Amino acid sequence: MPVSGLPPYDDQNIFARILRGEIPCRKVFEDEWALAFHDINPQAPIHVLVIPKGPYCSFADFSAAASAEEIAGFTRAVGKVARDLELESPGYRILANMGSHGGQEVPHFHVHLFGGRPLGRMVPTA
Ligand code: AMP
Repeated sequence: MPVSGLPPYDDQNIFARILRGEIPCRKVFEDEWALAFHDINPQAPIHVLVIPKGPYCSFADFSAAASAEEIAGFTRAVGKVARDLELESPGYRILANMGSHGGQEVPHFHVHLFGGRPLGRMVPTA
């Protein structure tokens, strides 16, 4: 059982299938640690997902179980993607949904990277 509160890692989840090349994606970046691709349903002019190569269900799982090398490699990949997309100067937002209250739909850890317009403050107050 992973530490994330989600079920064990499901290797048929859509991002696992993208990682294996079974489903196409609009790739932005790839290295040893991470793959980045455009979100299929963008919520901002730029909306890219960055996922680690390893089988982690969520941020909780990744932060507790990934090696220091994986965490460093992934974190650097997120920063590089933002830089390569020229988002550093105008700024951007990164977001990771975790579990049910977080609204996580795909059970492979991913960071959303949003940019291309002012993004407002934080989350809706509902
Ligand atoms: P989350 O709610 O954080 O789990 O977000 C999952 C994200 O994955 C959503 O923004 C979806 O639009 C996106 N998504 C789902 N399937 C695909 C796909 N095949 N290619 C790219 N993005 C996808």
